Amino acid sequence: MAEFNIAVVSGDGIGPEVTAEAVNVLKKIGEKFNHIFNFKYVLAGGCAIDEFGVCLPEETLEICKQSDSVLLGAVGGPKWDNVENKNRPEKALLGLRDGLGLFTNLRPATMYKALANASPLKPEIVEDGLDIMIVRELTGGIYFGDRGYRQGKYGEEAYDTEAYSKKEIERIARNAFDVAMQRNKNLVSVDKANVLESSRLWRKTVDEISKEYPEVKVSHMYVDNASMQLVRNPKQFDVILTSNMFGDILSDEASMITGSIGLLPSASIGDGRLGMYEPIHGSAPDIAGQNKANPIATILSVAMMLKYSFKLDKEAKAIEDAVISVLEKGYRTPDIMSEGMILVGTKEMGKVIADEINM
Ligand code: NAD
Repeated sequence: MAEFNIAVVSGDGIGPEVTAEAVNVLKKIGEKFNHIFNFKYVLAGGCAIDEFGVCLPEETLEICKQSDSVLLGAVGGPKWDNVENKNRPEKALLGLRDGLGLFTNLRPATMYKALANASPLKPEIVEDGLDIMIVRELTGGIYFGDRGYRQGKYGEEAYDTEAYSKKEIERIARNAFDVAMQRNKNLVSVDKANVLESSRLWRKTVDEISKEYPEVKVSHMYVDNASMQLVRNPKQFDVILTSNMFGDILSDEASMITGSIGLLPSASIGDGRLGMYEPIHGSAPDIAGQNKANPIATILSVAMMLKYSFKLDKEAKAIEDAVISVLEKGYRTPDIMSEGMILVGTKEMGKVIADEINM
């Protein structure tokens, strides 16, 4: 029997609703596979501003650091839109990623056969589903580089800097190759090496690390081509490894291909076991408190937690299989509802998935 401590940052809007269902699913996994999951609830985001005046209280970060993993709902909402920039709810996410050393973002873009008609792409391009994993560098590159204003050739100008150290590229590349080893062993590294010096170091370093993983087939693609290939023939991809900004853009493109924002999970991991797992969607203030949110993205986020942080592959698969099964049985929350299907709310969707695990 194994025991795991999980910090739950439910957050704002639909965050508490969807995390509640994911916690119930984990409890079911615990019962079925004989594990103990302990949950500690902490505040971050708008609710923390209301309670403590700061978006990321030190106590929250400390408890997250001491946990085996973090489950996050979503933060933010119109109530806090006018809060000063450095204390906006979304800053809590950056503070958590940075404070926990989570430099790798894993974003699967999975499309289930049962939902093929939700994709904006032609059916023949996505039939039989899609399964891509985007591995995005999360704590370096242009979002963290030197920036500011200065006098340039045409007067005042603003600048941002893309900089990557070899060490940063090595560690994200190793994480991406490890992920590829757990999948179909096919990795495409995306850069802009025809123009950017930082991309040339990226490409050279990925090639060096690839020697440690002889089983993984590696290739390189320019980011402009990659964005085109994702809509032309997305099935060619297994693992995509890329930088912070390119990953930000490509992962949104890939998620759209699959059809619904309410279905996709994500993981942020570092060197060790601790990771932060969250749906890719936000706090959806427009549907908060109405039992309308789709909890599947958050439930699949805990499946990623089981797989990547706790190495419980069998248990993770039990959750994924349960989700596929309820979708095939026709259960739908409003965001993915179509004619002839069974309309359910957040709580009911969580319950049918948890019940499916028991079968
Ligand atoms: P959003 O993802 O919250 O919502 C976009 C649309 O998708 C809305 O119509 C919403 O109802 C719908 N939606 C989102 N999740 C859904 C779900 N699980 N089930 C059904 N429908 C769902 O994005 P937004 O409206 O741009 O942002 C709302 C707030 O969330 C903002 O304050 C934003 O800053 C914040 N946000 C937080 C995170 C995060 O915590 N990781 C990420 C993105 C946005």
